[in-house]
Parts: sequence; structure tokens; C-alpha cells
Amino acid sequence: MSKNIAIIGGGVIGLCSAYYLIKDGHKVTIVDKSSLESGASYINAGYLCPGHITPLAAPGIIRQGIRWMFNSSSPLYIEPRINIEFFKWIYAFNKSCTNRHVINSIPGILNLSLLSQDLLQQIKDENNFKFHYKKKGLLMLCKTENSMLHEEHAVKLAIENGLEAKLINKAEIKKLEPNVEIDSIGGAYYKCDHHSTPGEFMSVLKEFLLSKGVRIFKHTLVDNFVLEGKKIKGIFFDGKLMKFDEYVFAAGPWTNYLCNKIGIKLLLQSGKGYSMDVHEETKINLPAILVEPKCAVTPMNGFTRFSGTIEIASINNNIRRNRVDAIANSACSYYPNLKIDEDIRSKAAFGLRAISADGLPYIGRSSKISNIVIATGHNMTGWSMSTGTGKLVSDFVSEKPPSIDTSFYNPERKF
Ligand SMILES: Cc1cc2nc3c(=O)[nH]c(=O)nc-3n(C[C@H](O)[C@H](O)[C@H](O)COP(=O)(O)OP(=O)(O)OC[C@H]3O[C@@H](n4cnc5c(N)ncnc54)[C@H](O)[C@@H]3O)c2cc1C
Repeated sequence: MSKNIAIIGGGVIGLCSAYYLIKDGHKVTIVDKSSLESGASYINAGYLCPGHITPLAAPGIIRQGIRWMFNSSSPLYIEPRINIEFFKWIYAFNKSCTNRHVINSIPGILNLSLLSQDLLQQIKDENNFKFHYKKKGLLMLCKTENSMLHEEHAVKLAIENGLEAKLINKAEIKKLEPNVEIDSIGGAYYKCDHHSTPGEFMSVLKEFLLSKGVRIFKHTLVDNFVLEGKKIKGIFFDGKLMKFDEYVFAAGPWTNYLCNKIGIKLLLQSGKGYSMDVHEETKINLPAILVEPKCAVTPMNGFTRFSGTIEIASINNNIRRNRVDAIANSACSYYPNLKIDEDIRSKAAFGLRAISADGLPYIGRSSKISNIVIATGHNMTGWSMSTGTGKLVSDFVSEKPPSIDTSFYNPERKF
């Protein structure tokens, strides 16, 4: 049965949901408070990385966060706050940081990432979309023996889970990346990982959706719902009450505000990250994660992007220059011939990741309000999981058997 659907949030999760919803015969309206040109879905590192199978909530992360709390240029910052939602989130997050949780989460992370890689290729082929999408693998570059030990463990876990990954030494790095000088003692190579240029995919997808009759309302904040029993009857925007059959909450780290309005509690925090683009030729051919400073380097279409940092804090638009400098300086220390000048640093952009309480996304229905589907909380890998999430959203709305086991993503799971 065809339904009339509103999607709140036009980031990559909202757009991918729209794609599959129209494919399944529904009528779709997207409402977004921004101009749909910035934010996490545009400035991210563009990795589609099933190799990242460990959730953010893993042993040692809280201790690391506390150690880094007083270092203004560290890759992870957790802002201490007197706020009940933050307390609940940090309590649940801390509880999730166990080895058992890591092992139990792997299928949930892996299945959605692999599904999404396949679907992205399918979307590209079926529609003859032109956007940059490369399958060259991903390097993990280390400077210390300690990090190498960590990588050894991560590679073992990846191989055990059927992924193509291996440890590599300095000479092998040179072979894989012959035209660039790299200061690293070795690392790992995840052949299973892919990369893309986010802005290109976002553009072709928006254009496609518009051509298929999807209505997109920009600069339109949704913050007022009219309820009727256990259902949302309508939302106010464009000066009037708009009624839909179903509502998809894909508002990134703002999704818990929407949920609060209708009495649903969702443990979610915002994790800010930064990126900057170097348009001069860097000769970097392979994407890489710089293991110690946790920075991402991505050769995109026409430029190289450097990104990093997770600031778990209340939502704000501040750009902390010392963190931008830390990303740029780290990149230059791994790639000694690289220059990232003041002009590039001053143009750094930020995006807000939606950080769930256990490192797994929230995708699914609520028992409190029957006509919504929640799709958020993708942590560091929302780009990687976007097409699969869109497909699952449409499976829920269309009442079809889900493409993969969705029990991992239940928004009402207990922590
Ligand atoms: C620096 C950085 C690097 C990253 N690198 C990677 C990577 O390499 N690979 C990967 O998989 N992931 C990566 N990510 C994460 C990825 O970018 C996000 O997980 C993904 O973009 C989330 O998409 P989204 O659609 O859920 O959220 P968003 O892109 O944040 O979109 C949410 C939208 O909702 C709108 N909205 C919010 N509230 C309302 C409201 N009340 N009314 C109307 N509109 C509303 C917002 O304006 C926004 O446009 C990175 C993130 C950052 C910051």
C-alpha cells in the first residue's frame, strides 16, 4: 500500500531513506532546517568501511576520554556537563564498554556496512549515477609499536569475521603508496574498505529524488507535532499543519529533541568532527587513518580531505581552532611533504555525528508512537551504513521482511 511519508532530516540517512521509499511506491516529503549543503553528510571522510567492526563503546575508551579531557587538541573530548540526559548516556555508554559487547556488536555493524556497500554500487549502476566511488582499500598508519600491537589484534578480528585485511610493514606501505613520502613504521591494509566524495553523492541523490517527485523543504525546522492517540497526526511547517501517514526521524544528533517532543527517550549525544580540503596535488592515492592522532586522509575527486576529532558535547557551532590545527599538524607529520596552510585551516568545516549509547545505530519503530521510524545514532560510520539504513527504513514502512536482522538496532533496546 502506498503511503504518504515525511522525512525529518535531509542528511545522507534521510536521502537514502527517501530513495528506497519511493522505490517501494511511497510518496515522500523531506523537511530540513538547513540549506542542505553542509553538516556531517557533506564534510565527512567518505569511507565505506566494513573494516571498522569495533563499536565506539569499547574497553578503554572512557579512561582515554578522561585522560584526554584536559588536552585541548586531543582526538577525543567528552565535555563534562550537569545534564540528566548526558548522565544517562554516559552511564549506558560506560556499561557498554566491555569485550563481550564488542564481540556481540560485530554482526550488527558488519552486516549493515556490507549491505550498504552493495547497495551503493547497485544505486550507481541502476541509475547510471556519476559520483566518485573507489574500491582501493584503506591504510592504517602507525608510528609506534604499541599501535602496531593494537592493529594486529584488529586485523585478526577482521579476518575472523571474513574481511580482507592484513598487517603491513614500511616497505609494503611504500609499494602501495609509491609516490608519497610517509613517516610510519607500518600498519594495516583493509582491502575491504571503499571511499567516495560525499558532496557528489549527496548532489546526484537530491537531483534524482526531485526528478522523481520528492518534495524537499529547506530552511524548515520541525519542532511541533500534533498527536492523536498513539499516532502523530501532523507537523507544522510552511505555515500550516501537514498530515502524513508515517514520519521518519532522520535528524542526526537532533533526533532526541524530536523524540523528546513526543515522549520517547533516546540516548544520543552529538560528536563534533572537523575536516579541511587541500586542492593542491598531494599525490596521495590511498585513503588512510593515522592511528595515533585518529585522523582520516581521503583522496577525493579533485582534492584531498583531512578530518578527525570527536567532541562529545552539547550542540554548538564553534570551530575549535586548536583541534583543526592538531588534525593538520598530525597529517603533516605522517606526510612530511604535505603543506596545509593558514588559508586551508581557516576554511575548516564541522559536522555533528549522532553518538548512540552503545556504538550501534537506532533504526526501527517505537512502541509509544506507532507511525514513526527512527534512523540515527550511526556514530563514526553513518556514511558507511547509509544506503542499508535507507533500505531498512523502507522495509519498516512497507511492512516487508527486513533485508538483514534488525534486532541490533532496536531504538528501545535496554542498556
Ligand atoms: C569529520 C567527520 C568525518 C566522518 N567520516 C565518516 C566516514 O568516513 N565514514 C562514515 O561512515 N561516516 C563518517 N562520518 C559520520 C557521518 O558523516 C554521519 O554519521 C552521517 O553523515 C550521518 O548522517 P545523518 O543523515 O544521520 O545526519 P546529518 O547529516 O547530520 O543530517 C541530519 C539533518 O537533520 C536536519 N535536522 C535536524 N533537526 C531538524 C529539525 N528539527 N527539523 C528539520 N530538520 C532537522 C539537519 O539540518 C541535518 O541536515 C563522519 C563524520 C564527521 C563529522
